[in-house]
Amino acid sequence: MIVDMHCDSVSEAYKTGRSLARPGRHGHSDLPRLRQAGIKIQFFALFPLIFLSKQICCPGNALHHVLRQLDFAVEAFREDAGTILIRTRHELKHCLATDALGAVLTVEGGEALEGEIRILRMLHRLGVRGLGLTWNNRNDLADGVAEGQTGGVLTRLGRQVVQEMNRLGMIVDVSHLSEPGFWNVMDICSAPPIASHSNCSAVWSHRRNLTDRQIKAVAEHQGVVGVNLVPQFVGPQGAGLSALIEHIDHVCSLVGDEYIGFGSDFDGTENLLCGVNDVTDYPVLVAGLRDRGYSQESVARICGLNCLRVLEAVLPEDQEPGTET
Ligand SMILES: [Zn+2]
Repeated sequence: MIVDMHCDSVSEAYKTGRSLARPGRHGHSDLPRLRQAGIKIQFFALFPLIFLSKQICCPGNALHHVLRQLDFAVEAFREDAGTILIRTRHELKHCLATDALGAVLTVEGGEALEGEIRILRMLHRLGVRGLGLTWNNRNDLADGVAEGQTGGVLTRLGRQVVQEMNRLGMIVDVSHLSEPGFWNVMDICSAPPIASHSNCSAVWSHRRNLTDRQIKAVAEHQGVVGVNLVPQFVGPQGAGLSALIEHIDHVCSLVGDEYIGFGSDFDGTENLLCGVNDVTDYPVLVAGLRDRGYSQESVARICGLNCLRVLEAVLPEDQEPGTET
């Protein structure tokens, strides 16, 4: 069983007009290919920003942008029929007891809240269960890694958002967050956080990767770090899956095998690791772990059980009364 904590397939498919529900050759992933790859639960990020001539910008109405992607995703899950949206522990249990592919909706960037805590609650009511506080830049909640020089921690709204996410049962995601913001989250977050798609800076130095201190802090909070398949975050040009496994080795040697998972970032990048064409290559990665000497129990934890622990710890037991099911 594989759980993947980050992909951009909803926003990529929405943008390019391809189907998520029908098998295709475009993009890195779709629902049939996820099933083929042995993925049991996929987190789908909704992205509030747009790229204009390689510049990132807020579309002015980031919330509308996210809502369109949310509808696109839910309609695709409905069309596919074999995919269920996971919003509660009850739905998680149901998903695990069936053949269904589980989908967790997340938002990658607090711009979607447009400065209002009420929007966070509305997104929660619509089924969103995770929020990455920032992308690389600054927003109303905090600074992303590209703004690390400011030394900025969370804003008052950012702190309020983390606390409200803890109350509602939403997963706080620290990938892309500046380091001072990261430590602020560690101070106030009362539930296990995730770094959904970040690697280790001790293995490959990159601003998107986590220091050993940060990895230890995520582990101390019972969270999970999801290793990312974007080549720039993995190693030098030409890096392949064995270079990615070095990041997994590093986390395991630092904190054990209970705080590591996958956050592939499929469809969030044009380049992929050498030897990887799309999500259906996941079994090669899993075989690579076995070849490296990881026990069956360890592979099971890395592939999915660690992420399941976080979902079980954070998700609300049942849906709020009066909300759509
Ligand atoms: Zn990202």
